[in-house]
Amino acid sequence: MSKAITITIDGPAGAGKSTTARRVAERLGYVYVDTGAMYRAVTLAALEANTPHTPQAMAALMPDVHITLATDDRGQRTYLNGRDVSDEIRRPDVTGAVSVVSAMPVVRRAMVDIQRTIGANGGVVMDGRDIGSVVFPGAELKIFLVADVAERVRRRLAEAQLRGEQSDEAAIRRQIVERDAYDSSREESPLVKPDGAIEIDTTNLTIDEQVDLIVDRARKYLSAYNLVSPFFKL
Ligand code: C5P
Repeated sequence: MSKAITITIDGPAGAGKSTTARRVAERLGYVYVDTGAMYRAVTLAALEANTPHTPQAMAALMPDVHITLATDDRGQRTYLNGRDVSDEIRRPDVTGAVSVVSAMPVVRRAMVDIQRTIGANGGVVMDGRDIGSVVFPGAELKIFLVADVAERVRRRLAEAQLRGEQSDEAAIRRQIVERDAYDSSREESPLVKPDGAIEIDTTNLTIDEQVDLIVDRARKYLSAYNLVSPFFKL
């Protein structure tokens, strides 16, 4: 019998979740799901519709918001009502508003339904804030990635530079700290270390080291339970 496990990767902004999760998924032949991109796409929809960020207004908007995901050689692509918004959702105004929008139960319920459908048969590496705590509390392997704020700011600056964007270190630091505080203190599905999660501090780790640590855990789990991953590359 073969079974593909579910791997959840949660943690604060800039801890290296997306890059790590994508590479772990590649190594295991699993599907990678960036759930932050889904909340960003809903936020973009609200900004484009000039919808106030209130629960009532968002409840009225949500029936017209259809988020779908696909993968190509650039990684996950995120679609809003059929339009590829993968680049637009990284805009600073989206980043600035996403924590408020994603804290709303009406938004979370819709996104969690999609996430559970995608991951229903395992074989996924899903990253976010509440994946191991709420979306898949029974996941076989749960990871909680953390890193010092200074290092997370440095990574965000490097990413912005790669995209050719002007960036202001103090503004990036403020945004990371504010977003973490908001995400951690909200009532609905706050950012927490999920029960049973393995915490990895990535401050002094390279991406390769982070990926190896997680793939190694997955390999141990799969062999201990005689589970087979058809695409497993050691
Ligand atoms: O991961 P990323 O930084 O793109 O996430 C953007 C925002 O989406 C987070 O700051 C958080 O407010 C929200 N989010 C969430 N739950 C998730 C993933 C992201 O609330 N599972």
